Amino acid sequence: ITPPATAVFETLESEVRSYCRSWPAVFDRAQGSRMFDEDGHVYLDFFSGAGALNYGHNNPVLKRALLDYLERDGVTHGLDMSTTAKRAFLESFDEVILKPRSLDYKVMFPGPTGTNAVEAALKLARKAKGRESIVSFTNAFHGMSLGSLAVTGNAFKRAGAGIPLVHGTPMPFDNYFDGKVPDFLWFERLLEDSGSGLNHPAAVIVETVQGEGGINVARPEWLRALADLCERRDMLLIVDDIQMGCGRTGPFFSFEEAGITPDIVTLSKSIGGYGMPMSLTLFKPELDLWEPGEHNGTFRGNNPAFVTATAALDTYWADGQMEKQTLARGEQVEQALRTIAAEHSSEVVEHRGRGLVWGLEFADKARAAKVSARAFELGLLIETSGPESEVVKLLPALTTTPEELDEGLRILTRAVRDT
Ligand code: PLP
Repeated sequence: ITPPATAVFETLESEVRSYCRSWPAVFDRAQGSRMFDEDGHVYLDFFSGAGALNYGHNNPVLKRALLDYLERDGVTHGLDMSTTAKRAFLESFDEVILKPRSLDYKVMFPGPTGTNAVEAALKLARKAKGRESIVSFTNAFHGMSLGSLAVTGNAFKRAGAGIPLVHGTPMPFDNYFDGKVPDFLWFERLLEDSGSGLNHPAAVIVETVQGEGGINVARPEWLRALADLCERRDMLLIVDDIQMGCGRTGPFFSFEEAGITPDIVTLSKSIGGYGMPMSLTLFKPELDLWEPGEHNGTFRGNNPAFVTATAALDTYWADGQMEKQTLARGEQVEQALRTIAAEHSSEVVEHRGRGLVWGLEFADKARAAKVSARAFELGLLIETSGPESEVVKLLPALTTTPEELDEGLRILTRAVRDT
């Protein structure tokens, strides 16, 4: 008797697993913007490993670099030893990313994944300022470990910790002001009011576009006002660019459009380029406060990920064309979403996004999941996001061709009509 192909997941794996419920397939292979399940079905992937695959699956250039490295028995473990792979990455990161943008950051490798970069940022901010409170925003998502979760604006996820988490102070994100409040007078008033219970914060942590929170796009002027407030009120500004960095919104760093320079920046997801764990915490040189060994971890320096990360920077960012291409493809997506929104004007609340991250919000909060399920049947992987999963979220690889984008957008159009 052949057991059902999913038996081991159902009997052995924890109930917490979720993507397998949205996409009931057993995936086997992936190439470019497509994934293949073991039954031979093909899916166009507009999810990209939750943003970890900006250069597509098994990108041939990155794969070649990785195979060459492994074939010559390059160092594979982590820690923070000096290696040729790490040196090449740091040199490229400096030449291709930091110098052309006149950014003066120290680079540290805090651990394998995004939440490690956030934890390091929060910890460093507390040490630098000698204060514990961190301001974060409604619907923010910064990761699942205790510190990151304390600044995450999602009650369901926070409930996973069982008891309330401390030291996070939530404030309303830009989208709550409907374009009407251009300054932070209310925030300043709270900082001044000793009766408000708001101990002076060490830092503010923000996403320029909230990816998990519903594709909420902060206005550049709001970000500039926030940066200005942080400077005047002695709070460090942390931009969490884990999902929106590495070119997702167009420029390499999502905060470039606003012309701000955060004190601390977190990067992960697509920085490794090949879907391999890697994360970076960048900070201004005066924040280089930790003694050797004061912050460590086994998998800080993933050498194979340094190799693919370097190949990605050299291939896609050295010539300065990536941003233009992403913005052009983003326009293609925007036009299709505008057409869908017009055709379903009473059902669609809004379409919004930037670069190649887009959201389509439905009035009926259950609709987005239905659209995603129908899209799956039609061969398109799209996730939902937002506090009540009411937003269909599009996150195609930056290397998706215009033809593939059209194909996926046609499937989306049909999935909306069918549901
Ligand atoms: N920060 C942001 C903005 C994210 O989108 C995510 C993941 O979705 C994280 C942090 C956490 O990263 P990880 O899941 O790799 O820990």
